[in-house]
Amino acid sequence: MADVLVLDQIRKSYNVGTPVETEVLHGIDLTMRPGEFVALMGPSGSGKSTLLNIVGLLDRPTSGRLLINGEDTTDLPDKALTKLRGHTIGFVFQYHYLISAFTAAENVMMPMLVDRGHPDREMERRAAELLDRVGLGRWRDNRATNMSGGQQQRVAIARALAMDPALVLADEPTGNLDTASADAVFELMRQINRERMTTFLVVTHNLDLARRCDRIVEVVDGRLTPGPGLAG
Ligand code: ADP
Ligand code: MG
Repeated sequence: MADVLVLDQIRKSYNVGTPVETEVLHGIDLTMRPGEFVALMGPSGSGKSTLLNIVGLLDRPTSGRLLINGEDTTDLPDKALTKLRGHTIGFVFQYHYLISAFTAAENVMMPMLVDRGHPDREMERRAAELLDRVGLGRWRDNRATNMSGGQQQRVAIARALAMDPALVLADEPTGNLDTASADAVFELMRQINRERMTTFLVVTHNLDLARRCDRIVEVVDGRLTPGPGLAG
């Protein structure tokens, strides 16, 4: 099986061509195998979100190569990149970004709707199954706005899985939750990772949670180093 993700000397500058041009990532190498669950750590402002946006095909590197499931994305036009993103990558953010007026089920169906252009029974069936999986089967017709932070984040996880992605990217998914909810949300992602072999790259500041990952990598001054969990 091909590596899910290969980053080869990824560099990223903001404000290119202006007097305030700054390079944030200085040549990142990272390979992730199918089914790996990796924690991405590093101080605030070190470039974690920048890196996640590049891996998630939301932004392009200034230079370097990025392969997803063995496919080199470097020269793909925007349209092909968008399609690849929709079919291979799921996102979970710190502030879930659910549509608050939509029900849990409608939120989970969004990626499928965007892909197919029209609703169908299969989408409803899949949304129900995913909400069951994250323990919210009975909540599917509730509006997101009426759910707790932990519940909303579980809806976001179900939504991230809607297209059965090879890779889920989570940017501080538990950063906004109390300790117990954070633990439950993290454990849910870990279980899904084991059941489905879905690969996860999770940004966290929580070393206790990071230590439960297969591996920790850390962005320090725009470079990637083996994280603190690997010491000793
Ligand atoms: P982290 O997620 O590790 O906190 P970020 O990737 O958000 O770090 O930011 C890394 C650096 O890049 C910071 O100095 C930030 O100010 C800068 N930065 C992030 N996004 C932009 C942008 N769109 N334009 C210019 N600078 C940015
Ligand atoms: Mg960030």
